[in-house]
Amino acid sequence: MGHVDHGKTSLLDRIRGSSVVSTEEGAITQHIGATLVPIDAITRMGGALSKVSVNVPGLLFIDTPGHHAFTTLRARGGALADMAIVVVDINEGFRPQTIEALQILRNYKTPFVIAANKVDRIPGWRVQQNQPFLKTFAQQNERVQGMLETKVYELVGKLSDLGFNSERFDRVSDFARNICIVPTSAITGEGLPDILIVLIGLAQRYMTESLKVSAEGPGVGTVLEVKEERGLGMTLDLILYDGNLKVGDEIVVAGNDQIIETKVRSLLKPRPMSEILIEERFERVKSVTAAAGIKVAAPKLDGVIAGSPLRVVRGGNREEVIERVRHEVQDIEVNLSDVGVIIRADTIGALEALSKELEGHQIQVMRATVGPVTRHDVLEAGTIRDPLYSAIVAFNTPVLPDAVDALTDTATSHVSIFEGGVIYQLLDDYVEWREEKKQ
Ligand code: GDP
Ligand code: MG
Repeated sequence: MGHVDHGKTSLLDRIRGSSVVSTEEGAITQHIGATLVPIDAITRMGGALSKVSVNVPGLLFIDTPGHHAFTTLRARGGALADMAIVVVDINEGFRPQTIEALQILRNYKTPFVIAANKVDRIPGWRVQQNQPFLKTFAQQNERVQGMLETKVYELVGKLSDLGFNSERFDRVSDFARNICIVPTSAITGEGLPDILIVLIGLAQRYMTESLKVSAEGPGVGTVLEVKEERGLGMTLDLILYDGNLKVGDEIVVAGNDQIIETKVRSLLKPRPMSEILIEERFERVKSVTAAAGIKVAAPKLDGVIAGSPLRVVRGGNREEVIERVRHEVQDIEVNLSDVGVIIRADTIGALEALSKELEGHQIQVMRATVGPVTRHDVLEAGTIRDPLYSAIVAFNTPVLPDAVDALTDTATSHVSIFEGGVIYQLLDDYVEWREEKKQ
């Protein structure tokens, strides 16, 4: 995760590219929204330093396309990802979405590593293709070394402001106490072996006990995106994190205002070399096992919300599965108060991230729902007893025209709507408004 253009996709492409040449089986496979890299390919890329045994078969790297897509990365009310890589352009430093990513990781207590990317853009940098960081660092002149150190310490300072202890990775001895900052270049491959080693370190530290992925049993996943595809109709891009999923399986997902039951018509994988013809972009498969990214085509998928859980019904437990999905979707509404702001977001994960941040600032929430801001929201906000809570906070979701119209009624003229695409900026705007109102 990280700010747009800081190099998330490039870094993943580079890992995929290098790993293809470094593994005999060439078993790196591209998935929908994700890439599966076997652990032996990772250790090989990591070089001699990484002769450690890790009890996991591999890592499924999930790219987060839209700038807020990672807010949908949730599962069972927690984080979908076991670990994260936060990519930051070392020349630009932290940007709003970097900070937002870090706040979400903190809320979920997800271990992560920082890729201080684009080191090759530091003026005067001498490229040493694919070299580990310390090797390439030793080849740089003192001025360039000094500049890199300064930039890394700027990141350490920013992380400290956010309550994280961090250090350049080669100075970290305890992964549990310090966040590793790894200088990298997605273009030249410098520092790539190091980031993989650090990931393995984190995996060893955090994953071996907690990893309970099973290929058996009914599939469970999280909907990353809901997309219309030519020739296929509405489809779901799904990260399957447990069990298996087959063509013909009955599945349960959450829609905007109801639970949807449907049947898998087809399961689609991206072709290794993405072909130009749209119809040939995907390969049909009969079944898929966790962990994997897969495109699901089925009837009745209109209105499915990104971030929704998806569960397979198998063996007559239909009612139970429906209840579970309903519960998982409503999980985030647990901390509602009688008096509080109304919040709206485009996805369940985004709504959850927003409500957690508000909670962290002792701001109460009266209602939390996915979808655009409606006239009804404005009318409801108008009846809230405490004027400091007569507000609607809308993250990444539009305000409907009749909701805007409603703001001019006398009964609701004191209501304010806060809109935006960065959670903590929305929060700042609301807090500022509140402070002004208090005076
Ligand atoms: P994303 O939005 O975070 O996925 O960023 P992209 O991976 O799409 O990268 C944005 C731009 O930065 C592209 O033009 C990349 O070629 C470029 N870029 C990414 N990483 C590096 C890097 O390490 N060095 C240089 N010089 N350019 C990079
Ligand atoms: Mg990208």
